[in-house]
Amino acid sequence: TRSLIVTGVQTCALPIYLKYQQSYQNSIRDPLTRLYNRSYFYESLNQALDMAKPSRPVSVIVSDLDRFKRINDNYGHLQGDKVLQFVANLLMDSVRPQDIAARIGGEEFVLMLANTSSDAAYQVAERIRLNLSSFDNASSGGQLPEPITISMGVFTATSPAIAAETCVENADKAMYEAKETGRNRVVAFK
Ligand code: GH3
Ligand code: MG
Ligand code: MG
Repeated sequence: TRSLIVTGVQTCALPIYLKYQQSYQNSIRDPLTRLYNRSYFYESLNQALDMAKPSRPVSVIVSDLDRFKRINDNYGHLQGDKVLQFVANLLMDSVRPQDIAARIGGEEFVLMLANTSSDAAYQVAERIRLNLSSFDNASSGGQLPEPITISMGVFTATSPAIAAETCVENADKAMYEAKETGRNRVVAFK
């Protein structure tokens, strides 16, 4: 009996710890893409904004896939989901470990780059935009049914006086300008 109890303790400790880890990760990530979710993004942005100053700018990049509805209509929702996963992986692989890549809407993504100037954030966005547009069906391993493009808006905060919601709104406005001026573009908020 004693050995059974000991065995029980030993085999339980690790799985409970792993289950805790797993449920914590599930609470901060989007299930489809495994990017961070909206609430974790805002928590991180608020934290970064607390310390924002001109020498420590915080950049936010809002991205929205171009003509994505057409992908769903032409190839189905499952294929659409694969496209979202492909883009999510590309975003994750394009930023530093300390950056936050999140999915904040159906086909809307946001990046938070701490300690990153507006110019540097623009360069990051431009690199991602160009990289995504270079993939076709074959080079994406079939994950993209056809080439996909993305429109991006950049906003940079240099003071804690700016609310997290305002940062995203401003990046969103810049993103809409990218849409209105032809899509597959990066626009910095002015
Ligand atoms: P625009 O270039 O103006 O952004 O055009 P759009 O078609 O991308 O924009 P619109 O907002 O009209 O459509 C977004 C589409 O994204 C509508 C919806 O079917 C699709 N969508 C949203 N969430 C998901 C999702 O989780 N999976 C899939 N497959 N599609 C989604
Ligand atoms: Mg959209
Ligand atoms: Mg779209």
